[in-house]
Amino acid sequence: MTPSAESHFCARIMDRRDVSEDLCVLRINPGGPLAYRAGQYITLGMERAGVRTERAYSIASSPYEDALEVFVELVPRGSLTPSLFQLSPGDNLLCRKIAKGRFTFDFHSGRSNHLLISTVTGIAPFVSYVRTLYRDWHNGGASVIGNHKLFCLQGASRAFEFGYREELERYSSELPWFKYVATVSRPWEDPEWRGERGRVDDLLRKYTDKWELQGETTTAYLCGHPTMIENSRGTLKRAGWKKEAILEEAYYQATIKEAEARA
Ligand SMILES: Cc1cc2nc3c(=O)[nH]c(=O)nc-3n(C[C@H](O)[C@H](O)[C@H](O)COP(=O)(O)OP(=O)(O)OC[C@H]3O[C@@H](n4cnc5c(N)ncnc54)[C@H](O)[C@@H]3O)c2cc1C
Repeated sequence: MTPSAESHFCARIMDRRDVSEDLCVLRINPGGPLAYRAGQYITLGMERAGVRTERAYSIASSPYEDALEVFVELVPRGSLTPSLFQLSPGDNLLCRKIAKGRFTFDFHSGRSNHLLISTVTGIAPFVSYVRTLYRDWHNGGASVIGNHKLFCLQGASRAFEFGYREELERYSSELPWFKYVATVSRPWEDPEWRGERGRVDDLLRKYTDKWELQGETTTAYLCGHPTMIENSRGTLKRAGWKKEAILEEAYYQATIKEAEARA
């Protein structure tokens, strides 16, 4: 692998946690100093037969951590993920030197509630928010968080896909400013599941009511599946959220077939 030294680091896989056959968490040594803010994404790539393929991945780690962490879903006929899924600790990959993205925590609008909505790997930027705020809160005391409160909903087909459920449930039970609810959309394939059921976009109204969240005081963050984002945006707008109070990070564009299948 010959990275273009100006724009790329030669990164190395430090650790790999397989969440399921097609989901894994990679801890990566980026190979050089990489500045980022919670909620940003990094561009990872590989070169095969002289062809470089690169894709964006939300960063799940906090800037306070040494390693860069990403939560990746295998797209079976995709250009990059089948190769990424072949990687083991010690293997190299390319990492762009600059993290990008504006899906960062909204400290500035004056809205103090933050509704974090995701499907599967779309939880990654929210893990970064919570890890970062936890560290700030722990070191700096309650004033660091002020009256900001985070309400997180994560959807997946089955419970083994959540990736960070134990960690987020731990934060949820410890922190007065963080709530987390995981929901399974195919409970018939997961008879052990005792938690919330249904698609995250279908549960949105229930939880905005339950948590007493309103558009004027709440920033909504939608991350992951494009159809979930579209449906959630519609629900939020009907419930009074203005465009500027809804932040979005779509991971790809839904095909018409996919959008219809989810409708
Ligand atoms: C800002 C941003 C952040 C992202 N963060 C993450 C992340 O944290 N984790 C992650 O796994 N992916 C993330 N993605 C998606 C990622 O960049 C790639 O698109 C994805 O990994 C597929 O790459 P590929 O080369 O294997 O497939 P491609 O060759 O790029 O895609 C093949 C086909 O599959 C579709 N597709 C792409 N992703 C999916 C998917 N997840 N499910 C179903 N169909 C899909 C594409 O639209 C295309 O039609 C992010 C994308 C963006 C824009």
